[in-house]
Amino acid sequence: MKVPLFDIKEQNKAIEPELKEAFERVLHSGHFILGPKVEHFEKVMANYLNVPHAIGVSSGTDAILLPLMVLGIGPGDEVICPAFTFFATAGCVHRLGATPVFADIDPTSFNIDPKDIEKKITSKTKAIIPVHLYGQTADMDPILKIANKNGIAIIEDAAQSLGAQYKGKKAGALGTFGAFSFFPTKNLGCMGDGGLVTVLDDELAEKARMLRVHGSKPKYYHTYVGGNFRIDALQAALLETKFKNYPKYLAKRKENATYYTNHLKTIPGIGDISNDNPQKLSILLPESMPFNTHIWNQYTVRVLHNKRDELRQFLQEEGIGSEVYYPLSLHEQACFAYLGKQDLPFSTQMSKEVLSLPIFPELKQEQLDYVVKTISKFLS
Ligand SMILES: *Cc1c(COP(=O)(O)O)cnc(C)c1O
Repeated sequence: MKVPLFDIKEQNKAIEPELKEAFERVLHSGHFILGPKVEHFEKVMANYLNVPHAIGVSSGTDAILLPLMVLGIGPGDEVICPAFTFFATAGCVHRLGATPVFADIDPTSFNIDPKDIEKKITSKTKAIIPVHLYGQTADMDPILKIANKNGIAIIEDAAQSLGAQYKGKKAGALGTFGAFSFFPTKNLGCMGDGGLVTVLDDELAEKARMLRVHGSKPKYYHTYVGGNFRIDALQAALLETKFKNYPKYLAKRKENATYYTNHLKTIPGIGDISNDNPQKLSILLPESMPFNTHIWNQYTVRVLHNKRDELRQFLQEEGIGSEVYYPLSLHEQACFAYLGKQDLPFSTQMSKEVLSLPIFPELKQEQLDYVVKTISKFLS
């Protein structure tokens, strides 16, 4: 049996007539960049996330870059982010001439450790970028407390967590800014690149909207130097069409995650940190932290005793796709060698242990069963 890591074709096929209609509406409107389609999509997102401002942008990466620019972050400034995340989180900081400062993560949630943030704060710290990795939120209360105490901004990297909630509030509605991605493999994916910035403050939102179009308002009069961070009308229209099914996609992902957990944990050698003795285990299952609603962008297990690559190879031979998000922690990347050697043990350890299994909404029951059976075979 074949089980791909991800299959977007199935999802789009199910709503193909609606997607074609959306395409035709944009085609006939003749309006392809920003405009009414984008504004409408922004309203839908602002409403869903319960924030006053949602700003459609060109990608998830630009959704991180733009807030940093709004805050005027540049040379001499430091921005704290986890070492275990997708590259864009720290890459954007570096691109503006500021210094990324890496904090370690918590090995149960895979998210930034607030205690390590506290240790990394200096007089140069201008912002913190907590990442809501794999679909669940970082522990935001202590992070907000540190930020408030030190008068620094928070940019939530919610690229993998559209709809996740922290104590009843949506990811992206807790910090100064939120950043979302609509890259095709995210829970809500477009057919190209796309992203979204959320903002609570009216003035920061106004500046973000200006920086999205080269810092101008009105057109051709530039108060700031911004960039082209615009989203296409076509992407907005397609996203809005897909968004109608979003609760259904999330419910399926959650169902799949629950199924994996319930069945995998019955296999000898598989358990979780919170309830079992990890010393006796071969695979640790992901846990949803009690303060948060997980949206399962990834179902990521930890494979212990240096067996991760072996399991991945085995799954591949049996027709099952999997992926390592991410094989090298950011503090160990060649481009950040100039920051010097750093000791971030959990980030390093997780990059050697994590393996993400197929979790997409359209997985069939037989496929889920086959993944469970194949992992069991590997351990026996
Ligand atoms: C996907 C992702 C991004 C970047 O999004 P793009 O749309 O690919 O630019 C940033 N941060 C995290 C954590 C991501 O997963």
